[in-house]
Amino acid sequence: PSRFEGITMAPPDPILGVSEAFKADTDDMKLNLGVGAYRTEELQPYVLNVVKKAENLMLERGDNKEYLPIEGLAAFNKATAELLFGAGHPVIKEQKVATIQGLSGTGSLRLAAALIERYFPGAKVVISSPTWGNHKNIFNDAKVPWSEYRYYDPKTIGLDFEGMIADIKEAPEGSFILLHGCAHNPTGIDPTPEQWVKIADVIQEKNHIPFFDVAYQGFASGSLDEDAASVRLFAERGMEFFVAQSYSKNLGLYAERIGAINVVCSSADAATRVKSQLKRIARPMYSNPPVHGARIVANVVGDATMFSEWKAEMEMMAGRIKTVRQKLYDSLVSKDKSGKDWSFILKQIGMFSFTGLNKAQSDNMTNKWHVYMTKDGRISLAGLSLAKCEYLADAIIDSYH
Ligand code: PMP
Repeated sequence: PSRFEGITMAPPDPILGVSEAFKADTDDMKLNLGVGAYRTEELQPYVLNVVKKAENLMLERGDNKEYLPIEGLAAFNKATAELLFGAGHPVIKEQKVATIQGLSGTGSLRLAAALIERYFPGAKVVISSPTWGNHKNIFNDAKVPWSEYRYYDPKTIGLDFEGMIADIKEAPEGSFILLHGCAHNPTGIDPTPEQWVKIADVIQEKNHIPFFDVAYQGFASGSLDEDAASVRLFAERGMEFFVAQSYSKNLGLYAERIGAINVVCSSADAATRVKSQLKRIARPMYSNPPVHGARIVANVVGDATMFSEWKAEMEMMAGRIKTVRQKLYDSLVSKDKSGKDWSFILKQIGMFSFTGLNKAQSDNMTNKWHVYMTKDGRISLAGLSLAKCEYLADAIIDSYH
């Protein structure tokens, strides 16, 4: 008998498991709208031209493969904080931000979770209901208690702003409030600029610590600055807060695992101490981060020509998703005779649309129509082509009714 008899089979991952099921399906019409990864109109993965250019340059220069320091590549850490806050922002000039390179968004969130567990024992992280599925796993594994604030209102397929504010107020003073910087996953519903101000007000009032997850900067609106507006609002107020960043989507560097954790502190001295502890957490976990993605980001951001090429490609990607969103909406409106209001689809932003389909209806999408999606009713529009919008509309209408 094996010593591992006591190890039971783990369930498939609710998001990445969808891709595995998709691969096994042999139907011609199959569509993978599960994982949030950008595809071309031909539904092929896309490597940004600017990334290839940076990689060629790196090869020509003959960059070596020496270990990075624990905190990652210095040029990357500088670039990533500047992209987030804007170069020359007071928090950067006054050295109030502790930034260390992380293993993309997930790994950066995990470092922050470990810091919370170590230095804020008993403090709760309060996350939106619903949220990206992995948030709960991350805080569970880091042994950080969490609870939820109301966010999505199924009646309006919109934001339950009153509920959100009430629940943030209700949370024990000094809680960490997890916020999606832009393009909320899975709902695609963001607070308005006026609502962000009110969110900042209650967080300050209750002495909470904001914790931003920024996985889509530049990918939601097409503009890096516009998508960072929520984070910058909190920085302007002189608050202390966390920001996890990811370059998986906006630079298409999914597999390179490149991101960062930033902790904005009220003094340079505090930032130095926080950074030293983040390094202490990283060292026994993975020693130091990978260099390739960090070099790509540093090269692209550090070169004016490549930086503007990146922005153009980001606008192109965000633009394609918006076009597909519109075509899906048009197809639904012209095909559906029930009089249902589909306008929520156009109000959502970013990579995803939250369709409002329940689990049984989502199962019908997959079992009958070969459309693979998460069971919460989320579809990734980044995995949809104009050519498949009508087919998808038929599937959605059939599943709803
Ligand atoms: N946060 C959110 C809200 C996300 O949607 C994602 C990507 N799906 C991530 C974090 C992290 O992704 P990665 O680890 O690839 O950067």
